[in-house]
Amino acid sequence: MTLALDGGTAAITAEWPAWPPALDDNQRSKLAGVIESGHLGSTSGPLCDEFADAFAHRHDTTHGVMCVNGTVALFAALRAAGVGPGDEVIIPTYTFVACATSVILLGATPVIVDVESDDLHMSRETIEEALSERTKAIMVVHIAGSACDMDPIMDLAAERDLFVVEDSAQAHGATYRSRSVGSLGHASTFSFQSSKAMTAGEGGIVCTSDQGLADRVWSACNVGRSREGAWYGHPTVGWNFRMTELQAAVLLPWLPRLDEEIAHRNAFAATFAQRLEELGTDARICPDPDGAEVNTRHLLMVRLGRDDGSVFDRKWINDALAAEGLPVDYGYPGLAVMDSVIAGGGKPMPTPRFDAVAERTLWIRQSMMMADPDRAVQAANVFHKVLGDPRSRR
Ligand SMILES: *Cc1c(COP(=O)(O)O)cnc(C)c1O
Repeated sequence: MTLALDGGTAAITAEWPAWPPALDDNQRSKLAGVIESGHLGSTSGPLCDEFADAFAHRHDTTHGVMCVNGTVALFAALRAAGVGPGDEVIIPTYTFVACATSVILLGATPVIVDVESDDLHMSRETIEEALSERTKAIMVVHIAGSACDMDPIMDLAAERDLFVVEDSAQAHGATYRSRSVGSLGHASTFSFQSSKAMTAGEGGIVCTSDQGLADRVWSACNVGRSREGAWYGHPTVGWNFRMTELQAAVLLPWLPRLDEEIAHRNAFAATFAQRLEELGTDARICPDPDGAEVNTRHLLMVRLGRDDGSVFDRKWINDALAAEGLPVDYGYPGLAVMDSVIAGGGKPMPTPRFDAVAERTLWIRQSMMMADPDRAVQAANVFHKVLGDPRSRR
């Protein structure tokens, strides 16, 4: 069979589902209700509060505070924990740039650590390599939709009196040892930006079961007011980081369908993995960390090769897959090597575990996993065909 790259017919011609999906009837009617009411902002409408409570409870926490996006949520949570100039916050190299920039925004230093080469998550071991006198907090990232191995990290945090925030921007609905992601650290953050599992275009939330922390986050996002205080009382410095009621109207009806969508993506992922196995393809899905249970499949991280030293030509593979109708991504370059370590604000640690596998990792996005699971068979067939070509290796 001639590869599409060489002029053959593309194996996959059907479109992959768009993300976000079209608004459903519940979202449309909630949205219409907000428009009718005229209460477009959360200072007059009830929906942001209603959603914050529902989302926080869904993630086994008692308090939720809405804000404009996931980056600001990280900033507000760390600030509420007292992180500021001179402090260091440990973050993983394999994540979105916001993990670093939210720390830089506080005048603190993100210390960028390695991730485990099999699952690409940070671990107690990789964190320990970066501890210093200045370490104030750890930002764990439940990357791709699966939880970090949190128990050892929380033990370390207790030993060293460190604050732990869980960046759960990719893990709405994920679980770890029968507990919900978002409830495992001292605070957690989620994003509702367009690419995430629940989205209103933009949006964010901080969840916690620490009332004092929630109040400080709320104040930071509500121009320094206190919840019970006067409208023009501003006892602390804060900003207007509020989300709108229009966004809450889109998000509220999403909560009850989240689990079903997670299950759908997992069915796709399982079929894809099984088919790769059947075919004996030189690729597999990255495993989850110990203790991770529900993986929400924000991204399907595909590992090329079997750790036998083969060197892959990722660019050629990417082009060949795209030509067959399977567009995949390279994924993140490490933050530890990004644009002069994000213009000088970050402190990179050596990342040998990540470096060893970076070129052998590809992503299939969440939107594609919303397709029928039988299309996962097609996707795996295409991987098999492309990786069977000698040009896929260097
Ligand atoms: C999307 C994302 C963020 C940032 O969220 P925004 O809402 O885009 O600001 C932070 N961390 C991770 C891991 C993300 O994927």
